[in-house]
Amino acid sequence: MLSYSTQLIDDADITAVVDTLKGDLLAQGPKVAQFENDLCQYAGAKYAVAFNSATSALSATYSVCGIKEGDEIITTPISFVATSNMFVTLGATPIWCDIKLDGNIDEKQIEKLITPRTKAIVVVDFAGKPVEIQQIKEIAKKYNLLLIDDASHALGSSIDGKKIGSFTDMNIFSFHAIKPITTSEGGAVLTDNEEYATALKLYRSHGMVKKEFWNSDMVSMGYNFRMTEVAAALGSSQLNKLDAFIRKRNAIANYFDERFKSEKLFITQKIPKNSISSRHLYPIILNPELQCPKEDIFQELQKRGLGVQVHYKPIYQNSFYKEKFGETSLLVANDFYRSEISIPCNQTMSMDDAKYVADTFLDVIHKYAHRGCSF
Ligand SMILES: *Cc1c(COP(=O)(O)O)cnc(C)c1O
Repeated sequence: MLSYSTQLIDDADITAVVDTLKGDLLAQGPKVAQFENDLCQYAGAKYAVAFNSATSALSATYSVCGIKEGDEIITTPISFVATSNMFVTLGATPIWCDIKLDGNIDEKQIEKLITPRTKAIVVVDFAGKPVEIQQIKEIAKKYNLLLIDDASHALGSSIDGKKIGSFTDMNIFSFHAIKPITTSEGGAVLTDNEEYATALKLYRSHGMVKKEFWNSDMVSMGYNFRMTEVAAALGSSQLNKLDAFIRKRNAIANYFDERFKSEKLFITQKIPKNSISSRHLYPIILNPELQCPKEDIFQELQKRGLGVQVHYKPIYQNSFYKEKFGETSLLVANDFYRSEISIPCNQTMSMDDAKYVADTFLDVIHKYAHRGCSF
């Protein structure tokens, strides 16, 4: 099965992990600091703080930024639930902003959602495509709001040659197995703000600081959200290959763009000339008449070896959110969920695989095109 996204582990990765396992330090040691340094170098941020997942990185971020009970957070519903879960646990309320057909937050609709209780704007670079960051930054600045980027899809993405990692106050990345690079499980926050970086490190490790000899002091509340040495060793090794992964995923995505450019039954995500996308996903947006047979299309694609997936069910449609915050219905986000399907586009695929994916996808879509919706 060709997966919509998957890891590529080579001998250098295996050596890095095995060498770490043979060493003395498995939990805390120099490899985490090295990986953080590598991330700063790669993405051009001043500070990086590694975590055991992006979810814990998000939790630490929101907490350190002072998000609390009663705050309103303007965010996108088209993301993994953790983007909002981690501020909801702090008592903040999600204010859902509709999206555009590229899956990213609609920057034109943010301003009207701002109230005196708004504390932050949280964006997601969907599939690796950077959001309209300059316009969103201006809004954040005008209203003195925090701007946070859940860039879990977007390590290696860039705008005008500048990597995602320091455009916003806090930039969160995931190294889960299928993300742009992997540490098996892992995450990080990149920031240019020294105070935040210090607070994130405390939060990651019980809020404790070392004093003299055996003495340590717990100065703030914290958790064990630390990344292991083994994971960090894998991370540094993977980071060496990230640009090659992105080139490969872009070669496949460009091939798909070319194959699909005259298709009338769906649209694809367009990446502007001044940006590079990590191409974590290759999302397809089916025409409305294909929304009804989407389950059949999905099943048939899977049967024919395409590990497709749908990204994402709007967060507000989950029962927890409906029960806690009531029903929400945003036009584009709802429609996007009914129409979206992510097809295989990953660095383990050959161009022959890409051809097979495009051929099979077109074949299946055209087969169901005539069925349409019965209403
Ligand atoms: C994967 C993902 C997360 C969660 O990452 P973990 O490392 O699995 O905790 C959060 N937000 C987005 C947008 C993601 O894609």
